[in-house]
Amino acid sequence: MNKIRKEFDVAVIGGGLAGLCCAIQSARAGAKTALIQNRPMLGGNASSEIRMHICGADHHGTRPNARETGILEEIFLEHKRRNPENAWSIFDAILWEKAAFQENLTLFLNTHITEVQTEQLIQSDGYERCIKQVRGIQLTSETEYTFSSAVFVDATGDATIADLAGAEVMKSRETMGNTLMFKARDMGHPVPFIKPFWAYTFSEEAMKGRDHKEISSGYWWIELGGGEMDTIRDAEKIRDELLKSVYGVWDHIKNGADHGAQNYELEWVGFLPGKRESRRILGDYQLTEEDCLLGARFPDTVAYGGWPIDVHTIEGFSNLQLPPNHTRLMEDVYAIPYRCYYSRNIENLMMAGRDISTTPGAFASSRVMATCAAGGQAVGQAAAMAVKYSMSPRQIGQKKIHELQQRLIREDVYLPGIAYDGLHDPLMRARITSSPALSSAGVENLIGSYTRTVGEEGNFFQSAGKEGWIRFSLEKEEKIHELQILLDSNLSRQLTISLSEKQLRTEPAGIPPELIRNLCCKFLLGGEIVHKREFKENYLRFVRIIPEMSVTADEILIEFSGTYGTPTPKIFGVRAYRNA
Ligand SMILES: Cc1cc2nc3c(=O)[nH]c(=O)nc-3n(C[C@H](O)[C@H](O)[C@H](O)COP(=O)(O)OP(=O)(O)OC[C@H]3O[C@@H](n4cnc5c(N)ncnc54)[C@H](O)[C@@H]3O)c2cc1C
Repeated sequence: MNKIRKEFDVAVIGGGLAGLCCAIQSARAGAKTALIQNRPMLGGNASSEIRMHICGADHHGTRPNARETGILEEIFLEHKRRNPENAWSIFDAILWEKAAFQENLTLFLNTHITEVQTEQLIQSDGYERCIKQVRGIQLTSETEYTFSSAVFVDATGDATIADLAGAEVMKSRETMGNTLMFKARDMGHPVPFIKPFWAYTFSEEAMKGRDHKEISSGYWWIELGGGEMDTIRDAEKIRDELLKSVYGVWDHIKNGADHGAQNYELEWVGFLPGKRESRRILGDYQLTEEDCLLGARFPDTVAYGGWPIDVHTIEGFSNLQLPPNHTRLMEDVYAIPYRCYYSRNIENLMMAGRDISTTPGAFASSRVMATCAAGGQAVGQAAAMAVKYSMSPRQIGQKKIHELQQRLIREDVYLPGIAYDGLHDPLMRARITSSPALSSAGVENLIGSYTRTVGEEGNFFQSAGKEGWIRFSLEKEEKIHELQILLDSNLSRQLTISLSEKQLRTEPAGIPPELIRNLCCKFLLGGEIVHKREFKENYLRFVRIIPEMSVTADEILIEFSGTYGTPTPKIFGVRAYRNA
């Protein structure tokens, strides 16, 4: 066995969407970052091994203007551009590429962490211990890795690192269970299905509380464990029971009553169950069900959610006499405070994903993957700041929360109730002119507090035609480090990969039609162009220009032309930063 030691600023364990977005943000914020994932690919429950679609605050596109932005939006738009046919393998590759080619980030796949070494702290802000190093084995290379790091992020879903470190975790006997999904396809001619001898048998009567009208995309309610069977300890037994159940349900659909399935073939059945619930780590605050239902706002907001409180029946599929779940909708999105994202007793441990600090009721909403990804990005930024300022995660919350929030906003993250401060933005005092705009959607909206529609406030400039321009005449010469243009990718619609044809029908097949296709940004000084950047076939919402060296300019001109459909494109903001 090879033995290799590695040292990082931030070590993220678990490569689901939370861990991935966390590691990318940490690396982009300047921290030397490791992403350690025990499976061969990234994405967690959204990888091709499990195939869950990624849901969030927009609740399947039914809540307007609520989709998460930031790194997840970048991933979604890449997926829409390169994967219009919704192939899961291409999605896997996009996730891998985001980590594998990210500067400052080292990816360790197939590496399972099994050991955590901690050190006792004598007196440190109420903390008991800190993590010195974690150890794991990379199966493919027969290598034992030891990772030391200033900050560790537990993004394992199961809070494995926290548990091994002696962090305060909570786990009730009753949790939601694990599920195996499947995919079936119409072959255009009758296809038989021979039931394996080990599959269960289900009658129509037994299945009456489980909607199985859509037959092609698997059922989240084939869910086992969480009562008598522990979702971690009994995971192998649960998988076997799930296989017997999935094949039994498919036999019912094919060979039971008529379900219109004569031509359908079982194309794929998962072998790795998706896990919903196990341990959660206690932070300085526990998000509550009431916070979610009342649309809470916090001074230390760093993420948000909006999925309903979606509580599944314990031991779901073995409890067929009860409905599989019950949900409570909330009117507005709710904010998640920073205090939910770090351990209250292990000094350098943060968490991202479904294992954050919530009550069971709040977890029933916050567990969905877009909410996990948004929180992950916030944790990555905070972890990098903890390294930069030599502070604990808790101290970042106490002393640097404004900077953390503004840094996240700078990454196109939406924080409900937290406005862009514009303190160092020379565009805020510029004279702004433009080509014709639609009334009430003029240039003054380009320098607002939010770069999305919030409630009644549209917050966008809308061009009267596909071609146009916007000019910012600055008060004086300014050194500009970064310019950002926030376009419209329609935050009211889902963009996720999905097994479900029904969901996919609500999405654009490719790049959102609202997006502007071509942009040219000119920095001018005394009427002369001193820097120019063109974007042809743009497909992103968040267009960012960071010249190699700051540019001195007294005018910024943005010209745009073409869209992917809309005749009157919107722009949600233009921002400039003097500093890095
Ligand atoms: C069947 C099912 C349906 C669901 N439906 C939806 C839905 O429709 N939409 C939605 O958004 N969410 C849905 N959820 C919930 C959601 O999938 C999870 O809550 C979410 O995946 C949690 O994200 P995460 O990043 O915390 O964990 P995960 O996605 O589980 O990622 C954690 C990763 O860490 C890795 N890991 C674990 N331990 C270690 C270790 N010791 N060392 C290294 N790596 C490790 C795991 O292999 C995994 O890849 C569903 C869940 C299930 C099971």
